[in-house]
Amino acid sequence: MFSPDPASGTITRVDVELVPDDVWRCLGPAGGAREQLADDIESAIMEASSLAEPASVKRELAVSTIGRGVVEFDGGLSVNGPMLPHLMEGAQGAVFLVVTAGSEIGHRVSELFADDKPLEAIVLDAAGSAIAMNVQSRTVSEVADERKGEGYQVGPCLVPGNEYWDLEGQRTVFGALPAGQIGVRLLDSLQMDPQKSQSALVPFGEELRILDDPTTSPCSSCKALRCPMRLEPYKANEASWDTGIHS
Ligand code: SF4
Repeated sequence: MFSPDPASGTITRVDVELVPDDVWRCLGPAGGAREQLADDIESAIMEASSLAEPASVKRELAVSTIGRGVVEFDGGLSVNGPMLPHLMEGAQGAVFLVVTAGSEIGHRVSELFADDKPLEAIVLDAAGSAIAMNVQSRTVSEVADERKGEGYQVGPCLVPGNEYWDLEGQRTVFGALPAGQIGVRLLDSLQMDPQKSQSALVPFGEELRILDDPTTSPCSSCKALRCPMRLEPYKANEASWDTGIHS
């Protein structure tokens, strides 16, 4: 099931079709500007779609041990963070992934700013972000469908640079994957180049505890009220579960 070659990864070129709502989600609340900007959004979608080179690379690694604040994988890689052992409790493996919309949208956005066209630049930038998010959600869905088809439970998508997993996690993701094969590199700042890229891991296992489906995760009976990964509101009348996490 697991790839023995640390340099290997599955590369996929991805078809993406954006709708205006995808771009609005990246631009923020529209207020009264929604109708005024409708043509700009359509133009940005067309330009971003023609410039984008959407692609993903993914690779699965087997979990070797889950300890205090650390999850270790076969081959010596590990992820660190106080919540990760809980979020990956029962995981037999994880699929690491990097996706990108390519570099051309970012270059065009810079040109538009240089040409003093900030509105066009901002809307095109949002369309580029929407493409990267779209590629990520499609890739995560494919990973989840594949693993569920093999009989595994699948956990929520975990992203470096969050309360539960700090940005140092980027080093593990890029150590697990040949991201350069889709043109993505990790900068010293731990940001990705091209900027319109995303990274993540998706845990899976037959006995995984925290699942991507909120209705089958234990969050509704958990008292960690400020947990950043809470999938469902706490229901006080259900039997409570003390995870040991009291964020
Ligand atoms: S709310 Fe509780 S059960 Fe849900 S992820 Fe957070 S700590 Fe875990």
